[in-house]
This record gives sequence, structure tokens and C-alpha cells, in this order.
Amino acid sequence: MVDLTRRFDVLVIGGGNAALCAAISARRAGASVLVLEGAPKFYRGGNTRHTRNMRCAHDEATEILTGPYTEEEFWKDLLLVTGGQTDEELARFMIHESKDILNWIVEQGVRWQPSLGGTLSLGRTNSFFLGGGRAMLNALYRTAEELGVDVLYDAEVIDLRIEDGMFLSAQLKQPVNGKTEVRASTLVAAAGGFEANIEWLKEYWGEAADNFLIRGTPYNRGAILKMLLARGVQQIGDPTQCHAVAIDARAPKFDGGIITRHDSVVFGIVVNKHAERFYDEGEDIWPKRYAIWGRLVAAQPDQIAYIIFDSTVVTSFMPTLFPPIAGATIAELAGKLELDPAALEKTITEFNAAVQPGTFDHTILDDCRTEGLTPPKTHWARKIETPPYLAYPVRPGITFTYLGTRVNKQSRILMKDGKPSANMFAAGEIMAGNVLGKGYAAGMGMTIGSVFGRVAGREAAKNARN
Ligand SMILES: Cc1cc2nc3c(=O)[nH]c(=O)nc-3n(C[C@H](O)[C@H](O)[C@H](O)COP(=O)(O)OP(=O)(O)OC[C@H]3O[C@@H](n4cnc5c(N)ncnc54)[C@H](O)[C@@H]3O)c2cc1C
Repeated sequence: MVDLTRRFDVLVIGGGNAALCAAISARRAGASVLVLEGAPKFYRGGNTRHTRNMRCAHDEATEILTGPYTEEEFWKDLLLVTGGQTDEELARFMIHESKDILNWIVEQGVRWQPSLGGTLSLGRTNSFFLGGGRAMLNALYRTAEELGVDVLYDAEVIDLRIEDGMFLSAQLKQPVNGKTEVRASTLVAAAGGFEANIEWLKEYWGEAADNFLIRGTPYNRGAILKMLLARGVQQIGDPTQCHAVAIDARAPKFDGGIITRHDSVVFGIVVNKHAERFYDEGEDIWPKRYAIWGRLVAAQPDQIAYIIFDSTVVTSFMPTLFPPIAGATIAELAGKLELDPAALEKTITEFNAAVQPGTFDHTILDDCRTEGLTPPKTHWARKIETPPYLAYPVRPGITFTYLGTRVNKQSRILMKDGKPSANMFAAGEIMAGNVLGKGYAAGMGMTIGSVFGRVAGREAAKNARN
């Protein structure tokens, strides 16, 4: 039984990677810590449950990582994917700290495994969790509990008392015990983004948001973020910016996870509901482009698109949870997809006619391209001509949003007037926008959570002692 009448040194709201890193780090620094996870125990861990890998800088190859990935290279990758929309001081701090995280996370019970084969080729830059995100979380929860961190599940925080930038207490709502006021000397907000709050997404995306699928937890509804912003916390990030990929349109509304993602775009063409192509499917290698397709599909009518390919490439990409839809002819396939058969035949005929001879190699920017076609397919263009013809319907799959709370290098929340909060810290998705103004490089969600979670816990414990 957790004694909720006492005043804790550190209250952590959230139950994913950022929250657990903060809780463990605060406890190791001598603080009493309470973690409030809004989800039931079985669903604990938010989006972290779905993860596989984390990006950390390192100066040489390890048993797990195939080669060095220096701080400078990490920084250049971040600059590239964000187009410079990042806080350089915070980003460089995170990258530097990430080096230490590789070992620190192991000290908390997490195990690594070598890179999994597949589509993103991350063996040098990313370490993979043995057993995936759930196993990683189980290790962190086990360590936290062994250290004496108190954890409550089904523990949704529905209100925060904050006065002049100072956290006083949180209102907790539980299914059986109802509402309780929880007091603590410091707060670590690690409650994720607002990606599962369709109504909030609609404020920026309009009715289109009804057609978005949410890849992760339904519990990240952004309530804590909203409360903080309403109580004088400085906002960071563009509310429309998020990580979004193309996922199978047949996936569940929430929590479909990684197996609903499609990596077949470069092997075919992508058309909208008018059977028209709308973007260069061969613009760059897939690991650098997979994260733009969610937004591209979101911009299409009814937020639906179809990846079309033929039987020659079915073994070229990761097997998918949902089987492709097949047709012996283009017209038959179009019928099954409810597309205009004549329009799809025209698109494919024009595409095939534009394909130039070349040597196909999907691991490099090869010379298989179209000529005289708008939009072009600049690499990996091969004729679609061998039946059966195949298709995956795709919709925007939102991974996480970037709107967040402004923080400094202590993970301390900054108020609207620029002053640091007296006792509030934030880590993970809820402050990801400090580093990710836009764009994404695989494995960074976990870097942001681990680095800033660890710092937030340590600083909150220090703050509570003073
Ligand atoms: C399918 C999928 C695959 C991914 N793969 C990777 C990957 O391989 N590598 C990578 O780096 N990133 C990946 N990501 C992104 C990654 O999951 C996140 O960046 C990271 O897990 C965020 O950690 P977090 O602790 O900030 O949030 P989360 O892990 O989402 O945790 C937020 C927590 O807050 C709780 N919460 C929310 N509101 C309240 C409230 N009011 N009261 C109490 N609790 C509340 C939630 O229940 C949840 O436990 C993936 C995401 C998805 C969806």
C-alpha cells in the first residue's frame, strides 16, 4: 500500500522510459519517489512498449554496434533531419550525454542485442533492446521497485496545483479510490505527447485527423502538457509537427505498433484515391525517408493512399502483418481497392513507359529512374508488369507529437517569462520539441527520454533536498 498522505520528494507523472529513468535516477540520488502511471499495469509504459532501439553516440565499435558514431556525426544527422530546427545547446548536450547512457541503461538492468535485420540498417548508430521495449520497461520497473520507488497504476493525474511557477500538488484519480491530492517537493512531467487526443489534433489538422491512426498508447492524451501550458509554462514546438509514418489502413485505431508499418514504398509506386502518384517514391534511401510518408498521406484526399507493386518484389521487404491485396490484372486490383480501373491503368502505363534501363540495387541510390514523368521516381524505378499485382492501403500513422514544454539543460521547465520553474522538470516526448523542431532520425525518441529523464530525476532529487 502506498501512503498517499505523505509528501514525496519527487513525483513522476508517466510510466514510460522517460518516467522510469527519472524515477530511478532520483531514487539513486536519495529521494523518495512516487510514479503515477495513468494506464493499467498490463498497458504500462506508453509508447515505450513499442520501441526496439536507441541512438547513442560512441567512439568505437562495441559488441553490439558495428562501428563508431561520433558526437559530431550524430549532431550532423540531427541538423539534417530537423533542417536546423533544434536548440543547439540542448541537442549537443543530449548527444554528449547519450554516450554515457549506453552503459547507464545497462546498469539499470536493460540488455542490448545486435541490430535486427530489416529495413532501416541501424547497426552502427542504434543499439537494440534484447526482447524489445517491453522487456526494457520490465527491467526498469524491476530496478525501480527494488530501489524502493513507489508505483501506482490506473493512476491518472487530472489536475495540477501550480502557483507562480511552483508545483504544489497533483490530483490523482483512481478507479476504486477516486480522487486524492498528492503532494511532493518536485515534479517530473513525463506523460508523453498529445498524439492520442484526436480532438486536440483536429485543432490543427481539421477533420483530416479523424482518419489518422495512432501507432502507440491511447493514454497519451496530452492532459499534463495542456495543464502545464495553461499554468504559465513556456511552449516549444509547432503543434502540427510530429513523427508520422505510412501504416496499413487496416490497423487498429490505437496501439498497432511497429508491425503495421509498410516499408515497400521504394519497390513500387504510391497513388492516392484518384489513382494518381503524388511524390517521388525513390527520393532517398528508405531509412532517411520513411518518416515523411505519414505527412504525405495526410495531405491526400481522405488521407488514404495505396502502395502498388508487382509479384517480383514481394520478398524484398519485411513481411507485413496484413497481406497485400492482389489482382490478376491492374483492373481487378483497382476494383478491389475501389479505385477507378482506367485511372490506375493509365498511371501504371505512363509510369512503365517512363522507366529507364538501369541496374537495380535498393541498398544504394541506384540508376533505375524515370524520365519525363511528374513526379519522377529518381531511384529504384522498375516496371510494374508481372502479375499478380499487389497493393497495401495506407493511412497516416502518428507516432508522437512535438509540441511541448521548454526546458533547460537541467531538464528544468522554463516559464513564459523565461525564468526556470522553482521545482518542475520534464522529460521525454513532452519536451521532445526542444530537440526536434521537425523531422526525425530513428532511435531518438528513446535518447531524449533516457538522457533528459536521467537528468530530470537527478536534478529533482537535488532540488527536493534543498
Ligand atoms: C510503434 C512505435 C514504435 C517506436 N519505436 C521507437 C524506437 O524503436 N526507438 C525510439 O527511439 N523511439 C521509438 N518510438 C518513439 C518512442 O516510443 C517514444 O519517443 C518514447 O517511448 C517516449 O517515451 P516517454 O516516456 O516520453 O513517453 P511514453 O513511453 O509514451 O510514456 C508516457 C506515459 O505517460 C502516461 N500518462 C499520460 N497521461 C497521463 C496522466 N494524465 N496521468 C498519468 N500518466 C499519464 C502514459 O500512460 C504513459 O505511460 C516508437 C513509438 C511508437 C508508437
